[in-house]
Amino acid sequence: MNKDCRKAVIAGNWKMNKTPAETTGLINDLKPLIKNAGCDVVVCVPYVDLQTALECTQGTNIKVGAQNCHWEKSGAFTGEISASMLKEMGVQYVIIGHSERRTYFGDTDLTVKSRTRAALDSGMTVILCVGEYLEQREQDITFEVISTQLKIALDSVTDKELDKIIIAYEPVWAIGTGKTATAQQANEANKFIRHLISQLYNKDAAEKIVIQYGGSMNASNADELLSQPDIDGGLIGGASLKTEDFASIVKAASV
Ligand code: PEP
Repeated sequence: MNKDCRKAVIAGNWKMNKTPAETTGLINDLKPLIKNAGCDVVVCVPYVDLQTALECTQGTNIKVGAQNCHWEKSGAFTGEISASMLKEMGVQYVIIGHSERRTYFGDTDLTVKSRTRAALDSGMTVILCVGEYLEQREQDITFEVISTQLKIALDSVTDKELDKIIIAYEPVWAIGTGKTATAQQANEANKFIRHLISQLYNKDAAEKIVIQYGGSMNASNADELLSQPDIDGGLIGGASLKTEDFASIVKAASV
């Protein structure tokens, strides 16, 4: 499949880091470093930083994302934020199904499906995270796990809506651990996902869909990972908080 028909997306997942004042600093430092990026650049910031991030990135090539959204538009869901609220602010991207949400906050394949539906209905682009735990890799059921996660999450997603889906393959054992999947392991999983998309949708959809890798990607390993034929960018946690490192990853994705 031809990689040239896809534009890489490098998305930073800031997790629960940075205050609004720190957001201004980080984005202002980042702007000049990535202004000529040949890939799409997104920063997914905590809810309280969204307004600041939107203001700081106005007129730049940096897009803003949230890290989760609720599936209802409004209602008695104390502490939650809806997709339509995010959309009205001007937020264009949202991470759904991150393994930290699945592991610590009870997200399941079904809630991931509902959140994905709500985000698409609001017109946002979803960065849909899938990936296996270490035990699952050791049991040799990685592809089964990813396949189940994707089939459920995409259950109601039409061919046309798939343009608004980015898939992030994130092996849980590689997130925030410093243990990166080898370029071969990452590409193998991404290739499997692309094949699954061709079965669930069609070949054209599989060729077009952006499939990122995430899990301890950094300035030193980005070149090798991003040069793989089925890796179209990255979801970057720790390294997205260091402007020079994040900019190096953006550069590696820009060739
Ligand atoms: C992530 O949070 O999605 C992630 C990949 O984190 P890290 O890069 O720190 O492993």
